[in-house]
This record gives sequence, structure tokens and C-alpha cells, in this order.
Amino acid sequence: MPSRGPMTRNIIHVDMDAFYASVEQQDNPALKGLPVIVGGDPGRRGVVSAASYEARAYGVHSAMPSSQARRLCPQGVFLPVRMHRYQEVSNRIFRILREYTPLIEPLSLDESFLDVTGCEKLFGTALQIAVDIKRRIRETTGLTASAGIAPNKFLAKIASDYRKPDGLVEVKPGEVRDFLRDLPISKLWGVGKATEEVLKGMGILKVGQLAVFPAESMERKLGKFGLDLLALAQGKDERPVCPDSEAKSISQEETFTPDLENWEQMKKVLLDQAERIGWELRKQELKGSTVTVKVRYPDFTLATRSQTLSIPTDQGIEIYRSALKLLSRTEAVQRRARLLGVGVSHLVRRKDPQQYLLFDSERQKAERSIRAMDRVWEKFGAGALKRASLLDPKKNSDPQPFPGARKGGKGD
Ligand SMILES: [Mg+2]
Repeated sequence: MPSRGPMTRNIIHVDMDAFYASVEQQDNPALKGLPVIVGGDPGRRGVVSAASYEARAYGVHSAMPSSQARRLCPQGVFLPVRMHRYQEVSNRIFRILREYTPLIEPLSLDESFLDVTGCEKLFGTALQIAVDIKRRIRETTGLTASAGIAPNKFLAKIASDYRKPDGLVEVKPGEVRDFLRDLPISKLWGVGKATEEVLKGMGILKVGQLAVFPAESMERKLGKFGLDLLALAQGKDERPVCPDSEAKSISQEETFTPDLENWEQMKKVLLDQAERIGWELRKQELKGSTVTVKVRYPDFTLATRSQTLSIPTDQGIEIYRSALKLLSRTEAVQRRARLLGVGVSHLVRRKDPQQYLLFDSERQKAERSIRAMDRVWEKFGAGALKRASLLDPKKNSDPQPFPGARKGGKGD
């Protein structure tokens, strides 16, 4: 009896190395070799989005407060996030990936799974495809990617991480057990601090130890979750690569020092965030119908308010109108805001024909002008648009391309 059926799959996980920071270094070669830290302003309670390998040597990593990063690496080059630029580079990378297979599941701008099972006749083995992809990404963008090749997603993701940066690791079906044996259990999906402690209490430190643990004892300790972990530890992961799984929501948020204390400041922040979300939605050819506003008050308590629009939108101004209304239902103005954020969820493909049936001509006109604005944005960066719409003292209140789109207007 064959140990594995004909359904052995070839999955590649492609993951760009220190993506945002590498894009910055590529765009400005003077930054190469320097500790580059992309993220929020250290003076405004910002958070690190990406750190170059030079910065990581100082212990800086993403999700760390920027102020802490500055303490660890005072000579670091701190740069703001230029999302439109990373999106642009990301689009070029995905264009390359799509030449090999339509079975691509993006996890983020710089990370995705490819199922290349059955592509051998066209493009060579999975390993050859991965080598090819890495070379073409480098030629096209100047950036390095790491790739993992394995019979399933779980193993491919671990493999791509194994020899970063510029890594290339293949795990063949017969090598799975050896590959996993000495891996720390924290590398298993779903194993957080708490589970790690439980497993350690059972004497399990490495994936190889978990893999041979009796299923009944595992189930007794951790229930169904324990059995799932056991399967992963044995290298079993049946989840398919899902090309349709896309971002469930798109959001922006920022923490402020000092706190935002008046309506005018909050409006500017909301408009900026709404415009960025609109931009992101249009880039991804998505529309969203639920707008959520999130406020953290100075005492750290959190308030969220949501609203579902009658028609999905990809327009920053519509998101802004809704967000403003939602914000007015919080106590932000009375209590001030330490953090402000906007998100859009319930996303649909823009090409959905039924969406277009609902458009009136006025709406289409407005959408055309927004697309023209996108082109300006693409050319000059988000900063240009921000300057134009937010910082011009005469135009710093609500922009009103839609009739009736003034603050507190009725209806959606
Ligand atoms: Mg990455």
C-alpha cells in the first residue's frame, strides 16, 4: 500500500524579506546597509511596521513601539509607511506569481502560497519554479524573497522562514519527519504562550516529541485542538490553497501623543484614514459595505461603532462621511482620543455586476474623478494628496464632491 496517494501536492510559500524596509532601501540606495525602521513616528506612540536586517541586529522588530526601537537603535533611519509604494511593488510581484499558477493565496502584500501541483510539464519542478520566481522578483524589483517548497501550506511556510533572508528550502514528502523533529513547538500554528506552557508541562519542547505523543493523552489534555496540533506535528495539513480568500477588512489606525482633543483634529485624521482605505480598496478592486470607527480614550478604554451602507463603496469620501457620523456617536470629543481608527469590512469584488446596476450617473462621474486622483497619487505619493486635501488651510474641512455630503447629513 502506498504511503501517500497520487494527491501529493507541491506548495510554495513566497515571502519577501523585510519587505517595506527593503523597498525603502531599494528606492533610496543611500539607505542600503543602514538600520532602516519603517513605521509610526516614535514621538507619537507609533509602532514599527518593518525593520531592515541591519536594524534587527539591534533587536528591533515589527509590532514593537517605535519609541522602544529608537532606544534600542538611536542611529536608526525612521521612515513613515508609504503603503501606495509597497502596493505598487507588490502588484509587480503578484504579476510574476500569476504567470505560474492561478492558485495563489495572498496572506499579505508580500507573502503568499502557490499551489504548483501539476505545473511540472510547463515550468519544471516546484524547486525550479521557486528558483525562477526568486530570480525574476530580484530582476524586476531588486528585492530578495525567501521561498519554501513542501507538500502542504504549514510546512511550506516554516520552510520559507528557515533560511531567511534570500532563503530557499525544500521539504520533500520523505523528509517531513526529520525537518520537524527539532523545531520548537512555538513554531506550530496556534501555539501561543498558554499552549506552550501546557505542552512543556507534558515534557514536550520540540515538534518531534509532540509527533509521537499518544493521541488519547493529547486529546485528554487539549481536546480537539490537541489532535489538530498532533496532526501538524506529524506534518499533516490538508488545507487547500484558496485563491479567493482575500482580506476580510481594510483598516487604518493611529495612536497619538498628545491625545487628539478636538473635533477638527479628529476630522482630519478620519479623512486621511478614509482616503487611504478608499485607495487601498480601489487598488485591490474591492468595495466594502460596513464602516467601523474605533476610538481609544486616554484611560485606554475602547469604543467601536459600525454602520452598514446601503451600497458597497470604494470611495474615501463616503467612508469618511460614515466614519464621521459614527465618531459623533462616541464620547471622543468629550473625553479626547488616544487612538483613532477606521475600517471597512464585508468586502466584495468591484466587478460584481449587480453593484454597477445601482450606480447613477452622478456617482459614476465622481468615481471617474477619484480614479484620476488615484493616478496623481500613484505618481506623487500619498503625501501629495494629503497635503492638497488636508493641509491647505482653506480646504481643511469636509470635501464635498457629492451633493449633500456635508457633516451630519442624513442617510448613507
Ligand atoms: Mg515578509
